[in-house]
Amino acid sequence: MITERIKGIKQTLPEGVRLVAVSKFHPASMIQEAYDAGQRIFGESHVQEMVAKYEVMPKDIEWHFIGHLQTNKVKYIAPFVSLIHAVDSEHLLKEIDKQAKRCERVIPVLLQVHVAKEETKFGFAPNELLEFMKSEVWKQYENVSISGLMCMATNTDDEVQIASEFEQAKELFDTIRDSNFDLQNWKTCSWGMSDDYPIAVKHGSTMVRIGSLIFGERIY
Ligand SMILES: *Cc1c(COP(=O)(O)O)cnc(C)c1O
Repeated sequence: MITERIKGIKQTLPEGVRLVAVSKFHPASMIQEAYDAGQRIFGESHVQEMVAKYEVMPKDIEWHFIGHLQTNKVKYIAPFVSLIHAVDSEHLLKEIDKQAKRCERVIPVLLQVHVAKEETKFGFAPNELLEFMKSEVWKQYENVSISGLMCMATNTDDEVQIASEFEQAKELFDTIRDSNFDLQNWKTCSWGMSDDYPIAVKHGSTMVRIGSLIFGERIY
């Protein structure tokens, strides 16, 4: 089942769009099934859960942290995380840099931009994010590699609204790309989930984060 679903989704993704299989709340046995189907990138949103799975699963898996990350927990994932998707403050960026340094590595990160209508979502406001980039304070953090943007659209059936939110993120991504900030790895647009990924790939996404469509409903 999982194997067929992954194959089905991959067939619909344009070249250059990577699939993050969001395995939060699902057991290692289901991750193994996806792994056996060739999937190597998995997304988790709870630190303890990701560490526990990292310890038992094959070591060539790329673990992406996709949820809201608390600064006091960065140290637990710093040794092995492949990409942190939702950096939404300088404070968090600074802590990731510090822990990456301790591990003698550079950790790729994405900045989360808030484009959705809902107020509960985390992330920089678009203007705030542009100001942050222009301030160049991030340049002092040499053990993080700022690699792109992440966003979540409003949870709605209104496809026009969803498309306009992704488009807003894409425009911001392009503005930063064209601003000569000397960002070597500015490449990734992480948007699109089970319900809205077809819209996301039409509006600039290079990385979709899909959970329930692969693994079924989550039991919290
Ligand atoms: C849970 C989660 C997803 C996956 O959601 P689905 O609707 O199950 O595909 C994607 N991104 C983030 C940030 C998540 O927390």
